[in-house]
Amino acid sequence: MKIMPNRLDRGFEIYQEEFEKKALEVLRSGWYVLGKEVDAFEKEFAAYTGSAHCVGLGNGLDALWLAFRVLGIGAGDEVLVQANTYIASVMGITINGATPVFVEPDAFYNMDPCAIEEKITERTKAILVVHLYGQASDMKTITAICKKHNLRLVEDCAQSHGACVDGKMTGTFGDIGCFSFYPSKNLGGFGDGGAIVTDDPGIASDMRMYRNYGSEKRYYNKVVGANSRLDELQAGLLRVRLSHMEELTAERHKLAAKYTAGIKNPEIRLPAVREGCDCVWHQYVIRCEKRQELIDYLNEREIGTIIHYPIPPHLSEAYSSLGYHRGSFPITEHYADTVLSIPMYNGMTDEEQQYVIDALNAF
Ligand SMILES: *Cc1c(COP(=O)(O)O)cnc(C)c1O
Repeated sequence: MKIMPNRLDRGFEIYQEEFEKKALEVLRSGWYVLGKEVDAFEKEFAAYTGSAHCVGLGNGLDALWLAFRVLGIGAGDEVLVQANTYIASVMGITINGATPVFVEPDAFYNMDPCAIEEKITERTKAILVVHLYGQASDMKTITAICKKHNLRLVEDCAQSHGACVDGKMTGTFGDIGCFSFYPSKNLGGFGDGGAIVTDDPGIASDMRMYRNYGSEKRYYNKVVGANSRLDELQAGLLRVRLSHMEELTAERHKLAAKYTAGIKNPEIRLPAVREGCDCVWHQYVIRCEKRQELIDYLNEREIGTIIHYPIPPHLSEAYSSLGYHRGSFPITEHYADTVLSIPMYNGMTDEEQQYVIDALNAF
């Protein structure tokens, strides 16, 4: 049996008729950018997250860098971010000329709340939390730290659509929640897409201006903005998927529970979930000290896996100018050397999952 790490085709097939109907409707509407589908999606996604406002954008990276731009964070400012994240989180900071200050992760792959305060200086302006792998971070502690030190709080929710802390959704704890709708995300489109959510009407209207060349009124440009508009086709298709988010997330919980109950191998460490923090299982990430052996073993059985992520941002060539080296963030580096995401997707069959479990247990 051949098992791929992800199957976007399955996610399409579950609601194929609805997607096709909506695609035709948008194509035939004669209106393709910033129209009624985007308006409706923004209202529905704001309601889903429990935010007052949502602004649809071109992708998740734009959501991040525009968030810091709108908050006025740039050159000379420092932003704390966990060291074990996807590099886009860091680019969202550095595109604005601000400096990323890395914080080591905890046992749940999120920013370690105990390691934050020692990194705060008089230049620190904000914290960017990343709810990595679908796991909500310790927002109770982090929001208290932000309040105490008067810091802005931005959340990278590209992997955490629907994940909650004590019933409150990630993306709603700080000033701005940033989302990506890249096809492989929990709420994924059929191309690029993104959004921010906020309770602040000023941030929402600034974001609307920035996404459209810095203009509020046609051909009157107030600031140098971006072209980062969610398009009508994506918005329409995302509305279809959003209407099924509850069952899609429930299915991921079920898949994760089966892995957690079924994988029994002392060579493999299973993911843990922090008490009170929900996980929507964007990835099911195991750790193994003999990772390459395990990857090769699974490959022989036609089971595909992915490493999220093999090179942490501080060791990436793109950030060599920051001057970090191997050893700068040992926990992050250890995770980068041992993590492995096993196949996990909506529409995964029981048989497929059992095949993966049996292979992992036989390793
Ligand atoms: C996917 C992702 C992004 C970037 O989103 P894009 O839509 O691909 O630009 C940012 N942060 C994290 C944690 C992500 O997983």
